Amino acid sequence: MSTRRVVITGASSGIGQATATLFAEQGWKVVGVARRADRLEQLAAKTGIDTFVADVTQQDDVEALRDYLAESGPVHALVNNAGGAFGAASVEESDPADWLRMFEVNVLGVQRVTSALLPLLRKVAADGHADIMTVTSTAGFVPYEGGGGYNAAKFAAHGVVGVLRLELAGEPIRVLEIAPGMVKTDEFAFNRLGGDTSKVEALYAGVEAPLVAEDIAEAIVHAIELPGHVNMDMITIRPVAQAAQHKLIRGELTPKA
Ligand code: NDP
Repeated sequence: MSTRRVVITGASSGIGQATATLFAEQGWKVVGVARRADRLEQLAAKTGIDTFVADVTQQDDVEALRDYLAESGPVHALVNNAGGAFGAASVEESDPADWLRMFEVNVLGVQRVTSALLPLLRKVAADGHADIMTVTSTAGFVPYEGGGGYNAAKFAAHGVVGVLRLELAGEPIRVLEIAPGMVKTDEFAFNRLGGDTSKVEALYAGVEAPLVAEDIAEAIVHAIELPGHVNMDMITIRPVAQAAQHKLIRGELTPKA
């Protein structure tokens, strides 16, 4: 039904990949962006999406993406999803290089891509509306031990989205944010925990039905497919087993007798 086009950063795995797949199934034109060309090619072969290899922390790459998009058609929606966590050390013991990486991708990546694509989104908004959805995290609201650099980066990303919503007020551009809690994706925790699979297993151990990438994809697509005057604004999404960042239930969820 729709011939709208969406750009999704971080489309080579996890939430971005699931979101690209679902948008394609819904009839959207999709441009999936990430650094790993081979992963994007595999996704393109499976889903028919268009892809563009870019590092969102590199201004030249982002400008090349913008130029490619400008030449290849309208852009109705942007999903700023590329991001990640590196390390789970205390503030005292953290390596500032990890924090810098997290800030570069989770915060400056969002700024770079949003800034570059806004003129394209505005063109489309002149005849309807456009969307900017950013994937932050519940780590953007609640600090936790070992969260230091990731908390700081996602708090900042949340702040950037809030500022953007105010700055774009008066334009038919929805500024949306989705803040997931625990999502079991293949690479996120693996990257965060330095590739230690036993730590990754321990993280999700006993959690009944943690969210999966497809759950977040469904929420993102739903929010963007709502009528243009409806802004879901800020979506918090967690597994039922996670009442709060620090309140994760391991074991079966059962009604009280
Ligand atoms: P993944 O690690 O599976 O995916 C991250 C994606 O971002 C990959 O496609 C990666 O591709 C891409 N990416 C990373 N760095 C860059 C870069 N510099 N330029 C372009 N693309 C980049 O993680 P998830 O799918 O789990 O997470 C997606 C988003 O959701 C992130 O922003 C994350 O912080 C957030 N989130 C995740 C949660 C979870 O529990 N999993 C919870 C809450 C939020 P490539 O390496 O090919 O560039």
